Amino acid sequence: MTATMADVKAAIRDVPNFPKAGILFKDITPALSDPALFRACIDHFAARHRGNPLKKIAAIESRGFIFGAALADRLGIGFVPIRKKGKLPHKTAEMTYNLEYGTATIEAHLDAFAPGENVLLIDDVLATGGTAAAAAALVEKLGGRIFEVAFLIELSFLNGRSKLARYSLHAPIAF
Ligand code: AMP
Repeated sequence: MTATMADVKAAIRDVPNFPKAGILFKDITPALSDPALFRACIDHFAARHRGNPLKKIAAIESRGFIFGAALADRLGIGFVPIRKKGKLPHKTAEMTYNLEYGTATIEAHLDAFAPGENVLLIDDVLATGGTAAAAAALVEKLGGRIFEVAFLIELSFLNGRSKLARYSLHAPIAF
């Protein structure tokens, strides 16, 4: 029988107090280790974007890579990693954003996108939206056009959507 996104949602594991007290971590690994569930995720995003004028998938380190890479292969388009500062070897642009305490910086290669090409930005979980908003701004700084921002899971109560209001946003699973 074919797995559904409801099956994927049911497999997501709650881990309380990880990585720190008060955070309820959404653990996707049970949905990755089951081949029918992982395929259901990629099928879902591929069905949404097949035939769309996408040129690249940009994915956020590190769990975004899992979905982004498989989806890029499925759609037959390029994959661009957006990484934490200091990991990419060639010339980069960076974007710094605020965390609960302090700041973080992400980078992408300067030549990652052709001018104006349509980019799907993907990550596993939309929480406060700070990371994705910075990643989307970085894609735009490098000349890409955000076609849509996609997540497997949206934590609706954190209202991360408000930071991404300029973009089309899609998340098949909400908690
Ligand atoms: P954000 O607050 O939207 O900037 O989230 C930053 C990153 O942390 C995202 O890439 C998510 O994958 C991850 N993240 C944040 N909160 C959770 C959570 N409760 N469960 C799993 N991953 C999370």
